[in-house]
Amino acid sequence: MTAIAPPTAAEVAERADAVRERVRAAGGDPAQVALVAVTKGFGPEVASVARAAGLVDLGENYAQELAAKAAVVDGVRWHAIGRLQRNKVRLVAPVVALWQSVDRLALGQQIARHAPGAAVLVQVDAWGEPQKGGCPAAEVPALVEAMAALGLDVRGLMAVAPAGPPAAAGPGFAAVAALADRLGLPVRSMGMSSDLEVAVAEGSTMVRVGGALFGVRPPRQG
Ligand SMILES: *Cc1c(COP(=O)(O)O)cnc(C)c1O
Repeated sequence: MTAIAPPTAAEVAERADAVRERVRAAGGDPAQVALVAVTKGFGPEVASVARAAGLVDLGENYAQELAAKAAVVDGVRWHAIGRLQRNKVRLVAPVVALWQSVDRLALGQQIARHAPGAAVLVQVDAWGEPQKGGCPAAEVPALVEAMAALGLDVRGLMAVAPAGPPAAAGPGFAAVAALADRLGLPVRSMGMSSDLEVAVAEGSTMVRVGGALFGVRPPRQG
């Protein structure tokens, strides 16, 4: 594949405005719905462009990629949004601002060990798709309680909808929002480029957007 020139900061800022417009059109208040720009798969130059476009919250799926970008791009709140192996926690612990995909006790224990008091979200599997990660909804209250007992700052819940028609994700997002309400957790990280309207309509307070800001991701190496 030929290398595609990264978008300019002006282009990314324009696309971020378009995303905020989509949030508004879906009935959300863009000032209340945080935009996490997902830079996974792109090089550090794209993370720098995002930062120059005024985006401060950046999301990464892979620990090595996150660490490499955090070493060269300043002023970012890094969000760990992917399935995380326990042995990768230490590598990114100094730079992660929000651990979004905590779905099991062992992972929480490792985070509490390397980043005491860290802010976390519990990832919920609201669709019965365990391969995507996420804690089964029925087990979420106990996991949230266990995370708090470890001294972690549980801010909310996160969910990744299955591939397929965005509208089909609605009931799952609604269930996650209801669960967050019940547990008194303010943050619901739900919605990506293709399904953010559905997520916002169901009460998302944080969308994680890659493609709609940066274009098609290069294929993942290795
Ligand atoms: C890749 C990814 C995103 C962003 O997806 P887009 O379709 O590019 O917007 C959001 N959340 C998670 C967990 C992801 O892995």
